[in-house]
Amino acid sequence: MAKRRLNHPQGLSSYTTRLAAYGDRLVPPVCLLCYSAPDIGHGLCSHCQSALPINRNPCPVCALPHHGPLPCRRCRENPPPYRAIVAPFVYAKPMSQLIRHLKFQHRLELIRPLAELWLEALSPMADLPIRLIPVPMDRRSLRVRGFNAAVEIARVIGRNLSISTDVKRVVKVRRTPPQSTLSAKQRARIRSGVFKSIAPTTEGLIAVVDDVVTSTETARAVAGCLCTDNNASVVVWAIARAAIPHDVRRL
Ligand SMILES: [Zn+2]
Ligand SMILES: [Zn+2]
Repeated sequence: MAKRRLNHPQGLSSYTTRLAAYGDRLVPPVCLLCYSAPDIGHGLCSHCQSALPINRNPCPVCALPHHGPLPCRRCRENPPPYRAIVAPFVYAKPMSQLIRHLKFQHRLELIRPLAELWLEALSPMADLPIRLIPVPMDRRSLRVRGFNAAVEIARVIGRNLSISTDVKRVVKVRRTPPQSTLSAKQRARIRSGVFKSIAPTTEGLIAVVDDVVTSTETARAVAGCLCTDNNASVVVWAIARAAIPHDVRRL
């Protein structure tokens, strides 16, 4: 695709964002996934919405599906640097299709529906962070894709909850191979030192935002570079959690 000139280190230009929103109003209100039934809200028809895979009984720490209510074995034996991952959906069809269409087919009109689905699923009792920090992409990957889905989703969530989004706090200093080519052990080794925090987190609860959590190595790496002192507290907000425990997940 043609390279885009970005106004912001990790974001879409305001023009592109406005254009996508304008396009939403021009197209007929049909389901963004199946195109065959009317949109009843969040861009989806009733059939597609009812088919969304809810993350039931997740591990209370890493959100691994069907591993609650106590922490799963990995979280017990190797506690992560974050307090908890909140991921209301499982990375399975049709949620996985929505996320893949956004990231790999550049269907930017899916940003807002995905963020709204996440907001709807968020418990009203949940502790709200004071800042959102999207998982950054390395510069080359960002140039190729043209946008960072985590940034765009975080901005919609942040606007709705009146929480600021900080895209400069954490940078990805090294390019890593696509996750789909790596085993869990390779991911853990390669993630070491990939992310760097400009400043430690000492100000209160921070939410790291990502679209999908797979092996949790990225979440551990980003939270780990933020938590350089024991007062820091990080949660991870993701749309979906991969259901296969921590090993050979292929995305
Ligand atoms: Zn549909
Ligand atoms: Zn766990």
